[in-house]
Amino acid sequence: PVRVRFAPSPTGPLHIGGVRTALFNYLFAKKNNGTFYVRIEDTDQNRFVEGAEAYIFEALEWLGIAPDETVGVNEKFGPYRQSERKDVYKQYADELVAAGKAYYAFDSAEDLDKQRATAEAAGKTFIYNWENRGTLDTSINLTEEELNTRLAKGDPFVIRFKMYDATTDAETIEATDLIRGNVSFKRALLDDKVLFKQDGLPTYHLANIVDDHLMETSHVIRGEEWLPSLPLHIALYEAFGWDAPEFAHLPLIMKPVGKGKLSKRDGDKLGFPVFPLDWKTADSFSMGYREQGYFPEAVVNFLALLGWNDGTDKELFSLEELIAAFDLSRVNKSGAKFDPEKNKWFNHQYLQEKDDAEIATLFLPIVQSHTTSNLETVTKVVSLVKERANFITDLWELSDYFFVTPTEYDAKASKKQWKEQTPEIMKELIAIVSGIEEFTSTNTETVVKNWLQEKGYGFGQVMPPLRLSLVGAMKGPHVFDIVELLGKEETLLRIQKAID
Ligand code: GLU
Repeated sequence: PVRVRFAPSPTGPLHIGGVRTALFNYLFAKKNNGTFYVRIEDTDQNRFVEGAEAYIFEALEWLGIAPDETVGVNEKFGPYRQSERKDVYKQYADELVAAGKAYYAFDSAEDLDKQRATAEAAGKTFIYNWENRGTLDTSINLTEEELNTRLAKGDPFVIRFKMYDATTDAETIEATDLIRGNVSFKRALLDDKVLFKQDGLPTYHLANIVDDHLMETSHVIRGEEWLPSLPLHIALYEAFGWDAPEFAHLPLIMKPVGKGKLSKRDGDKLGFPVFPLDWKTADSFSMGYREQGYFPEAVVNFLALLGWNDGTDKELFSLEELIAAFDLSRVNKSGAKFDPEKNKWFNHQYLQEKDDAEIATLFLPIVQSHTTSNLETVTKVVSLVKERANFITDLWELSDYFFVTPTEYDAKASKKQWKEQTPEIMKELIAIVSGIEEFTSTNTETVVKNWLQEKGYGFGQVMPPLRLSLVGAMKGPHVFDIVELLGKEETLLRIQKAID
């Protein structure tokens, strides 16, 4: 059965790359009737950030891609927090030591600095590997007794993996990546990574492999930045004698302009996290997608297209449609360009799909922070202006004049549209409008246009000043729709106010 995981380290708010990884795992699991689980990789105590774990779950929840299993949820293979699995890992490191596939290394930080300095002086880079491991302070040259004495003495140690043994190992590690095809790595070029640290905790590599095995992970779907770790991971599965999962490394997410990978610094400018880490506690915080007004469906949709498409031009996908269409074989190898403008377009599409009453309900609190109004009026306003909006928060600027009588008129437009004879014409218009009984958009339009014809007035003499009077600027929907919504009394009042 398909079992995939999102394995974040709780070191801060979830950024777009991480969320995309979570989404692709989710889609793959659902497509294959599998399980999507979240494992919290929190063994690096130095990078621990308060609140980050809860945040991860809230963000996935908000996006609608909550895991089937995780901390506190269907803990079939729990615990799902690595810090609570500490005791599990040491025995596996020991197992590799016993099999001669890993070893103790006692070098202090100063020892290693010295090695680095010496190598540098000779114009080389120090790599802890098969060539020099025998000459360093390791258990390789110790008898069992000597080793036990040092361990008993409490000498600090780490456990390192023998990445390459020239006498027994093949020169290359071959792997198949479901996105990249065959990849091959030269073992001799790789270093002996630490599996177990001095602080008694495993490194990411050991914990990750052990847990993927114990939690029966079928596929590892993660960002391309983990590709360099793949040979080590494959070698570890081999060393344990375990079947490795399948691997798929998702393409990098690239800057919108120029070259290079999108960084968190670009991110902050683009409103990168799903929402800010401190949104519950801080008075003011940086922006996240949610704060910018993105709908979760829009975020899911644009994330899905970062490195994947269904082979057609289709761009709008509901989560259900994504699940149905998703296929790892259609994930690109090359980097996916991040396009903030296009993201807004997605939100625009989702906004248009909602019905007016739903939009109005979201918009109502904003209106009410400025003035009093009710859902019925706001719904009507929404129907007139929503097609210009990308976000709920755009709506106020697009419609404020419906709620608040303009007190200023756009200067440039006034100069152009408000001529000497305009007040006289507007007075006549007041008389005409006052007489209209059936105050609908179509009827007022007919009446006003008939009057225009009778009097021989040009469109330009009446319509722009009318709009200016009602809106305060040359913007907005069809002017008679505005008239209808404002109602007779307010319409007359505004025209009179503009004349005065
Ligand atoms: N904890 C790793 C991370 O923060 C997980 C990488 C992986 O999926 O193997 O991304």
